[in-house]
Amino acid sequence: MTLLRISDLKLYYKTLRGLVRAVDGVDLDIEVGEAVGVVGESGCGKTSMANAIIKMLPSNVAVYQGRINLDGLNIVDLPEAEVRRRIRWREISIVFQGAMNVLNPVIKVGHQVAEPLIIHAGMDKDVAYRVAREKMKLVGLHEEVFNRYPHELSGGMKQRIVIAMALIMNPRIVILDEPTSALDVSIQAQIMNLLKKLKKELSLSMIFITHDIALASDISDKMAVMYAGQIIEVGSAEQLLLTPMHPYTQKLLKATPRLTSGEKPEFIPGAPPDLVDPPKGCRFHPRCSYVMDICREKEPIKFEPTKGQKVMCWLYGESR
Ligand code: SF4
Repeated sequence: MTLLRISDLKLYYKTLRGLVRAVDGVDLDIEVGEAVGVVGESGCGKTSMANAIIKMLPSNVAVYQGRINLDGLNIVDLPEAEVRRRIRWREISIVFQGAMNVLNPVIKVGHQVAEPLIIHAGMDKDVAYRVAREKMKLVGLHEEVFNRYPHELSGGMKQRIVIAMALIMNPRIVILDEPTSALDVSIQAQIMNLLKKLKKELSLSMIFITHDIALASDISDKMAVMYAGQIIEVGSAEQLLLTPMHPYTQKLLKATPRLTSGEKPEFIPGAPPDLVDPPKGCRFHPRCSYVMDICREKEPIKFEPTKGQKVMCWLYGESR
């Protein structure tokens, strides 16, 4: 069952150089209990999409339009007060990139986990503390951690705290923006195992944002590949890993180091485009080895060459 349906979402920023088309016509469905991995190089619009979903927008937004449909409500059109009252943290929460480094250093972490319940839900402090202790236990933290300050915790423990904060109001969807990028590999594996456990036990839907396609495939049921503000391919994790269709997805996979083969990772030629003035036609065409005349002129539509897999590439169109 579809829980969140994103249709033709656009988010442009006003800058001195012109409009930055950070998110430009994104469509994505998130099902109940589904983990959707959103992958792509930095600057492709992943974080902007996350901020757009939860409607946490910077002051220089010039265009914010489309549909983000949750229970018949379009978050894009909801006034800020309604988003705060009904959606943000209650239905959809987010673990921001680097969030563990911005915990308040002079407040005990248990209170920081409980704070949204006290401030936003008007809960009695003792009850909020009890709920916070339960959430901390759920994310694998010992009870005595409640009274510690952030500097007394390891990186992995701090990340568990921010995950507990994201879960405190029992949201149905959690957005995780590069949740393990600041952690070393063994702690990264522990956090990934925790996220898989939470997904299963709570039937939680997740949007897992990362530049690391291999890491995303570890938890994702479905994966969406972003390039220059657009989702250029979406399919099941298996489809994307085994039969990637878009030339950019293929390059991303070839750029990933493999443990089991002697193949060296390849690099992706060129650089991501300037989102103030993206290339005409297919935005990937200056870097694509399959480029055709049509690619330079016309933006590809979304084709569905196999069931469940959608790709924005003229290689799969009738006009080929
Ligand atoms: Fe390459 Fe053309 Fe497909 Fe773009 S539309 S990825 S340029 S083949």
